[in-house]
Formats: sequence, C-alpha cells, structure tokens
Amino acid sequence: AKKAVLGPLVGAVDQGTSSTRFLVFNSKTAELLSHHQVEIKQEFPREGWVEQDPKEILQSVYECIEKTCEKLGQLNIDISNIKAIGVSNQRETTVVWDKLTGEPLYNAVVWLDLRTQSTVENLYKRIPGNNNFVKSKTGLPLSTYFSAVKLRWLLDNVRKVQKAVEENRALFGTIDSWLIWSLTGGVNGGVHCTDVTNASRTMLFNIHSLEWDKELCDFFGIPMEILPNVRSSSEIYGLMKAGALEGVPISGCLGDQSAALVGQMCFQDGQAKNTYGTGCFLLCNTGHKCVFSEHGLLTTVAYKLGRDKPVYYALEGSVAIAGAVIRWLRDNLGIIKSSEEIEKLAKEVGTSYGCYFVPAFSGLYAPYWEPSARGIICGLTQFTNKCHIAFAALEAVCFQTREILDAMNRDCGIPLSHLQVDGGMTSNKILMQLQADILYIPVVKPSMPETTALGAAMAAGAAEGVGVWSLEPEDLSAVTMERFEPQINAEESEIRYSTWKKAVMKSMGWFI
Ligand code: ADP
Repeated sequence: AKKAVLGPLVGAVDQGTSSTRFLVFNSKTAELLSHHQVEIKQEFPREGWVEQDPKEILQSVYECIEKTCEKLGQLNIDISNIKAIGVSNQRETTVVWDKLTGEPLYNAVVWLDLRTQSTVENLYKRIPGNNNFVKSKTGLPLSTYFSAVKLRWLLDNVRKVQKAVEENRALFGTIDSWLIWSLTGGVNGGVHCTDVTNASRTMLFNIHSLEWDKELCDFFGIPMEILPNVRSSSEIYGLMKAGALEGVPISGCLGDQSAALVGQMCFQDGQAKNTYGTGCFLLCNTGHKCVFSEHGLLTTVAYKLGRDKPVYYALEGSVAIAGAVIRWLRDNLGIIKSSEEIEKLAKEVGTSYGCYFVPAFSGLYAPYWEPSARGIICGLTQFTNKCHIAFAALEAVCFQTREILDAMNRDCGIPLSHLQVDGGMTSNKILMQLQADILYIPVVKPSMPETTALGAAMAAGAAEGVGVWSLEPEDLSAVTMERFEPQINAEESEIRYSTWKKAVMKSMGWFI
C-alpha cells in the first residue's frame, strides 16, 4: 500500500494520574494521527494514602508507544517520520530510585496522598519568624500536596531510601524525571533531569532564580545531590534508548497543567485554561511577572520554551478531586460501570434536587487549603436517588471551578470573558453546560481534547536541534472549537452557588 505523505511527526507521552497515553501529531496541522491509552492502578494502602507503582507507570509508557506505532503502521504511516518526543506528566508525585539497579526504592507517593499531614504540622512549627519564607520563594503554601514533604516522609520512614542516600545511590524525581531517566537508558547512562515547571512543584525550587534553593533544602532536610538537573521545557535532554522509537530525541518536558496551557495556546498575559482530569486546574498566564495571590491561588512556573527563552509564570487554582469523584462512584459505590455512564444518570433527573456533594477526599485545596475537610453528601431526602447524587457530583466539579475562577478574577482584576477547557471529563456535555450555567460565561472546548499531549508535542517539536514545530497559532488548523453558552439566569445560578458554599463549610473540621 502507498504510504501517506505527511510532514514531520511528533510524539507525546501524557502520563496522568488516571492513565498513560502516547499520542502522535502532525507538526504541520496539529492533527492527532494515532494514540493508545492504558489505565493506571492506584493503591490506597491506608486511609488517606495514595500510591502507584513506578515500574507499572514506565511499562505503560512503553506499551502505549509500541501500540501507537503498530496503529500507525496499520494506517501506512512510517514511524521514522517521528522526529521528537515530548513528556507531560502528573505533577508532584514523588519517586526515589536506586541509580545502580534502576529499582524504585518505594512506590510513587501520589500528589493526592495525605500521609504527610503530621510532617507538615511539624515543619510549620520550625518555620522561622518570617512565615512567608516558603511561599515567597516557591509560590506555594506548605501543604501535603508538594514533593518536598513527601520526600521528607520517605527519608524519615523508609529504610531502603535512607540507606541508598547514605551510600550515594539514591535519585529523586517527579514522574517526568523517572521516565526520562529510564527512557534514555536508566542504569546505562540515563539522563537525570527535570524541567522548570515540574521543579516549581517540588517546594525546593526558587521560582525567581530558577534554581534549587539551598535554604529550602536545608529546611526540609533534603540532600541536594539526589535532585535532578533543572532544564528548560523545550530542549534535547537525551535519546530514546530502546523500543520502536529508539534514537528519537526526547526534547519537551512540561508538568501536565503547563502542557495544557501551551496546548491551548495561552501564550498571552491574562489567557487561561481549566483542565478537568483527576483533579481540576485553572491556570492563568501572568507573563514574565510572578503574581502572588491574595485569594488562595498558587504562583507557579508556566513554561520556559528553550534554554535562552524567557520564563513565563502562572496563577493556579488547584482542585484536588474532580474526575476522581466519578471514579469513586464507579469503583467504591458501584453506581456506574464506566465514567461515561454518569452522564446518562445525571440526564435522567436534570437536577440534584437539593443534594450537594462536597468531594473533599483529600482535604480541600484552593481557595481553602484545608486539610481537615472530608467529603460529605448532604441535603438528602427520601426522594433522593443515585441519579441526584450523580448530578450533584458533576455540579460539585463546576462549583469548585467557580470558586477558583472567582479568586482568579479578584487577583487579576480583569474577569475572564470565557473559559477555555480541556481534559478527560470535558467529553461530558452535561458537565460542560452546567459549567457555563454556574460560571455565567461561555465555556469553550477544542474539538481535539488532548491539549496536554499537544502542548508537550509542541515543546518537543520546537526545541533547538529539532525545529519541526513553530509555535504560531496558524499551525493549529486541525483544531476547531465547541461553545457552551449559559442558559439559566444569573440569579438562579447564584442561589445554587451560595447553597454549595454552605455545604463546603459543613465539610470542614472532620479530621483534626
Ligand atoms: P488525568 O490526566 O488526571 O489522568 P484525564 O484527563 O485522563 O485525567 O481524565 C480522567 C478522569 O475523567 C477520570 O477521573 C474519569 O473518572 C473522568 N471522566 C472520564 N470520562 C468522563 C465522563 N464522560 N464524565 C465524567 N467524568 C469522566
């Protein structure tokens, strides 16, 4: 059969909390040509603990690459057209491994994990007079969410980790570092690096100087020699060492939320996107300035697309539980068999009938930062059924977004005129319409929902020495938009929102 004629192709690994994907794009049109996805197991060994197996994650990446290449073959697309690979990943999730054996020394401690609550309390007590010192350097509040406290816990509690550090065999990394080190050869010369966006989520990184911070490392008691080298988000880090794409450069690396910002082309000051995955993350580009929030948002590195390119920052509103609540209804309550089924249940009733569901499974993140919160379902009557609870779960995702959008508007001064969205949950049309109704602004969704992967592919394709992707909007000709306009009136929307806030107050203080 005749091989299709195409421009250069770029692949992207999208390693999320729920699943791993590998996707291949045409760099000329941003068209998605083929992809493969594998769901990732989550382990909950104790209440509040969330772990994943780093080797399963790595294996899933290889599997997705091989399967995608097979599918491209079936489409008569020559995989030698793939000129670069980008990596985007779940952020903050912490891995420590042995550089001599390549073996992880403990499971990956996932960003949602709450085991470090007492670690955080103890650290608070040790903060010197100026209690803003962590926040002013990192843009982050001291919380169980970020890598430094997870790494502190591993150093305090896992003998294998302690021993490897003493014997100078330990390497620390977030998932990007673990993957890039392994894919570029592991024990045979793997490259131990991360990018500025992922580094900015560790709580050890100074977001002004763009370097690991000695004072922070001392404060958390982290040996600096186990940290990866920090690079820009777009440069050649190394070459694939094995598999169907052996020899292809890995030349893009972005934390998933930064990747989505790039994939949505939010390159201007004031442009924002909201991604609905396991959690929900609203990021607003603030250009070259670090803006510090007065309303519970984080300041984070948005991207730095090249060694000599300037850094961009973002304000971020983080919601811990969004799609995870749908997964919980599937796996823990069993009221749906697949995530997609939630839409059918919600549609049957079209209202929560006064039922509110605050899914504070991991405490509350922005704008509350309240680790003592726990999930509640309230407003129940004898009339309430599983469809109302399904509807309330979707509404909860929208209300949480409304809270961070309100905070963002207050911090930025100029309210967003519409919301650009993406992520696994945005295929749910009821959710999208509800979101427009609750925000009372239009919600705009690209027809190609894989913007996280697209952002990583763009960074990889634009890297110096690769140069197959120019970051101009004209190149995204394959991307069209779908719009959801608000349909209920603002007054109705406000009443629902204020009842939601009452429910949030009831979720706090359960766990002290
Ligand atoms: P992540 O990047 O965090 O791995 P994804 O963007 O892949 O997440 O989205 C997966 C999440 O979206 C899962 O938690 C799943 O329950 C949820 N989800 C997927 N499809 C739907 C749907 N149609 N309606 C509601 N939630 C969905």
